[in-house]
Amino acid sequence: MSAEDVPDVPDPDEGPFDYDLVVVGSGPGGQKAAIAAAKLGYRVAVIERRHMMGGVSVNTGTIPSKTLREAVLYLTGMSQREMYGASYRVKSDITMDDLFARTHHVIGREIEVIRAQLLRNHVDILNGTGSFVDAHTLAVAEDGASHPSLVTAKFVVISTGSKPHRPESVQFDESRVLDSDGVLSLEKVPASIVVVGAGIIGIEYASIFAALGSRVTVIDQRPAMLEMCDPEVTESLKFHLRDLSVSFRFGEQVSGVESNTHGTVTRLASGKAIAADAVMYSAGRQGQTDSLELEKAGLSADSRGRIKVDDQYRTVVPNIFAVGDVIGFPALAATSMNQGRLAAYHAFGEPARELQSVQPIGIYTIPEISYCGRTEDELTTAAVPYEVGIARYRELARGQIVGDSYGMLKLLVHTETRELLGVHIFGTSATDLVHIGQAIMACGGTVDYLVDTVLNYPTLSEAYKVAALDATNKIRQVARFSQ
Ligand SMILES: Cc1cc2nc3c(=O)[nH]c(=O)nc-3n(C[C@H](O)[C@H](O)[C@H](O)COP(=O)(O)OP(=O)(O)OC[C@H]3O[C@@H](n4cnc5c(N)ncnc54)[C@H](O)[C@@H]3O)c2cc1C
Repeated sequence: MSAEDVPDVPDPDEGPFDYDLVVVGSGPGGQKAAIAAAKLGYRVAVIERRHMMGGVSVNTGTIPSKTLREAVLYLTGMSQREMYGASYRVKSDITMDDLFARTHHVIGREIEVIRAQLLRNHVDILNGTGSFVDAHTLAVAEDGASHPSLVTAKFVVISTGSKPHRPESVQFDESRVLDSDGVLSLEKVPASIVVVGAGIIGIEYASIFAALGSRVTVIDQRPAMLEMCDPEVTESLKFHLRDLSVSFRFGEQVSGVESNTHGTVTRLASGKAIAADAVMYSAGRQGQTDSLELEKAGLSADSRGRIKVDDQYRTVVPNIFAVGDVIGFPALAATSMNQGRLAAYHAFGEPARELQSVQPIGIYTIPEISYCGRTEDELTTAAVPYEVGIARYRELARGQIVGDSYGMLKLLVHTETRELLGVHIFGTSATDLVHIGQAIMACGGTVDYLVDTVLNYPTLSEAYKVAALDATNKIRQVARFSQ
């Protein structure tokens, strides 16, 4: 047979394909991957289960928890009590229906916005559960349909997110023993609740229930909560939560949870037993990869369901990318969105800049916490010379106006280069305010920018000015006393 007689073997990576990109999962990572590719002119589809448009973020995670928090703050009147007294309430008998009314409203609106954005960008929405047939083909099975439909794509982005990790030893009954999804179907505000796990989700829900008046016990096997935060900030939060009748049991292992029609008993390895109306487990999260049939595409997941990617979010199979919670840390909606956009750019060879290394963390406890950069402990361990500048909200006119006397902003400043090394905030609008410090840090700015700049008055942003002056005055004093 001559060379001309050899039949052309189709290149499996060259198609033809139904789509240039198919995204599995419509959470923040999937949405942004789909829209970024569509904006580049590619044919894109998103596979998602009919009842989950918007992902965990919109349906059971970020949006419902933050909306619940907002509803609790409003209805309990908590943020107004400094002005109007400890008994101030907008509604005295708050029900879960009151809280869920706001949550359902916001979720509904968010779903509409996401659907409209996808459709406006000509992204097809394929309803159902996606699973791999091979690296370029996915089966899409609608609930109840007898035959899945097949769809092919040059590139695939897996953004199937995560679900609560459920320890096998605990019997979740969806009424008294719950995870963070189950909390969203509680029928009554529990008079008492045990929260197992003092990570971000656990502590956020602990503070929501405490604000509602539930007696909350937080249990964690670790010696402290939110260990990544500034200890002064976590101490302030603990003080506030204790004031709302939260008790903490750190360094304790749960040995079992019993539940019956009267309530629950959580037993600890140390022999203690805690009775409560409900138990919420917040024991980390697990990548949602069970239904994907990854092996058919040449992929696998680790024991926590996570998929490994390189710094371009590419898996070991070159045409398949993965973003968001399914690739693990930091597992935030905030980062997932950016990973999705970047994965689409990398897939299509579009030039892309990597994410800035200074990233904020927002913790929506009551009061809220946010930070970026390094902590005092990290700087001390690394022997970096720094000074601390502190502003207390009660010394800001805006702090008085909004009735926040406990908030504080702390700047960590390099004593020689005057660079900002860390920003740690506790109190009203912390999660918004942090971005000022983040921008200065990312641009390599110094504390002098804050000293020399004029800020609106009266604002909470003014805390930056006060803290900058505090730090620079201390640095100046050391220089004066050293002469
Ligand atoms: C209680 C709680 C509070 C949170 N608060 C915050 C916060 O304040 N700020 C923040 O930044 N992050 C927060 N997060 C984290 C945030 O929700 C996640 O990081 C984010 O949702 C991850 O986005 P994702 O793109 O990975 O997909 P997800 O939002 O996890 O969505 C994945 C989607 O994939 C779909 N899917 C899975 N398998 C398949 C399949 N085989 N076929 C089709 N579809 C599939 C699922 O139905 C789901 O809709 C919170 C999480 C929780 C649980």
